Amino acid sequence: MSIESILIVGGGLAGFTVAQNLRTRGFTGTIDIIDPAGIPYDRPPLSKAYLLGDKDAAGIELAPASWFAEHRVGLVRATVHALATEPLGVELGDGRKLHADTLVLATGGSARPLPVAGGDLDSVLVLRSRADADTLRGKLAPGIRLAIVGAGLIGAEVASSALALGAEVTLIDPLETPLVPAVGPELAHRLHAMHAGAGITVVHGTPAGIKRTGAGHRIELADGRVIECDEVLVGIGIIPNTALARAAGLATENGVLVDEHQRTSHPGVFAVGDMARTRSADGTLQRRGEHWEHAMNTGATAAAAILGQEPPVHGASWFWSDRHGTHVEGVGDMNAEGTTILRLKEGEPVAAFNVAADGRMLGAAAIDGGLMIRAARRIIDRGIVVPAEALADPEVPLKKLAR
Ligand SMILES: Cc1cc2nc3c(=O)[nH]c(=O)nc-3n(C[C@H](O)[C@H](O)[C@H](O)COP(=O)(O)OP(=O)(O)OC[C@H]3O[C@@H](n4cnc5c(N)ncnc54)[C@H](O)[C@@H]3O)c2cc1C
Repeated sequence: MSIESILIVGGGLAGFTVAQNLRTRGFTGTIDIIDPAGIPYDRPPLSKAYLLGDKDAAGIELAPASWFAEHRVGLVRATVHALATEPLGVELGDGRKLHADTLVLATGGSARPLPVAGGDLDSVLVLRSRADADTLRGKLAPGIRLAIVGAGLIGAEVASSALALGAEVTLIDPLETPLVPAVGPELAHRLHAMHAGAGITVVHGTPAGIKRTGAGHRIELADGRVIECDEVLVGIGIIPNTALARAAGLATENGVLVDEHQRTSHPGVFAVGDMARTRSADGTLQRRGEHWEHAMNTGATAAAAILGQEPPVHGASWFWSDRHGTHVEGVGDMNAEGTTILRLKEGEPVAAFNVAADGRMLGAAAIDGGLMIRAARRIIDRGIVVPAEALADPEVPLKKLAR
């Protein structure tokens, strides 16, 4: 059957990329993106430039309104309430029903609520959408006491931005050193220490409850300590938005299950981005990707698969994060079984490489080392075996080793 119409549920980076790639690959049929937020926008600036006021709403749009008109990509400003599989389609919040030959699910994730008493208070802030960023920005005045639960990527970025906006920031995490799986223990330790160095109060502890106190909040920790603050932001990860897919009978397990072409258990339905989880041909469930480039890559893969074209080739998974004027990047898998080789500068680790027993690089992470990570990615993708001494030597450009 030839495909004439495609409905994309969710207009984040993944959904937008599907539409963009469908057009660059020559699809001339109907494409509609359904999202209550309207023009798709980029999320990484929400904790960085947008929160700081260095970019406005137009500055974070993934494409201007004119692009959608020129490329005949419809934007349906609505929330999908249900999926239909026979025939394929969606039901919108206002009862309208839309049908298409192919459906793409790109509904991302929702902020994971803190599972303690008071974790669900309306006044507890999260950061996932532009509206969340606007709410948070409205609270961040100089001297405001902001407590952040979760010192992972988003918690750390908000801590840094809030500090720059004059807030008094307390950063709470049950882990002594967060981010170890992403960048390895040595870089994680250095990154976490930057918070205290910048003037943030770092608390190693587990929240047991949140209470309202007049205009503010009190966070009670499991060990009895209490943190008084004005505002609380919880940044402890996301839950993939799989309810629509589950209700429609698609296979899900901490994500909508897809094959390597992003096809779900229904042949006419694809899933991309943060909400999709790959089940490999041998049945192994992969870890769900929750990064910007992953959203883009899965969108590009789905577009090719929908059109029956050759799939694009992607390199090892990559992410970045920014805090306290420092840029962090990671590529591949720092958590896989291997040996860590550190690159030091003035006694401080600036890069960590995870190397397998056979000498192949499995993962790499660097602080202010974007070029190094680009070279590391080439080394990982090509399976180049690099001598450990060269990896550890800050005088050896990694680019040279990637040839
Ligand atoms: C604050 C923040 C900072 C980040 N910083 C970085 C970073 O520095 N580096 C990095 O690599 N990654 C970063 N990320 C992660 C990256 O932005 C995400 O991985 C990416 O946005 C995922 O894209 P997505 O399209 O899958 O989902 P989303 O961007 O979440 O988009 C999902 C869309 O689906 C819509 N939707 C949901 N349900 C429905 C429904 N029922 N009907 C219609 N529409 C629906 C939502 O409105 C939303 O617009 C950050 C994320 C956030 C939130």
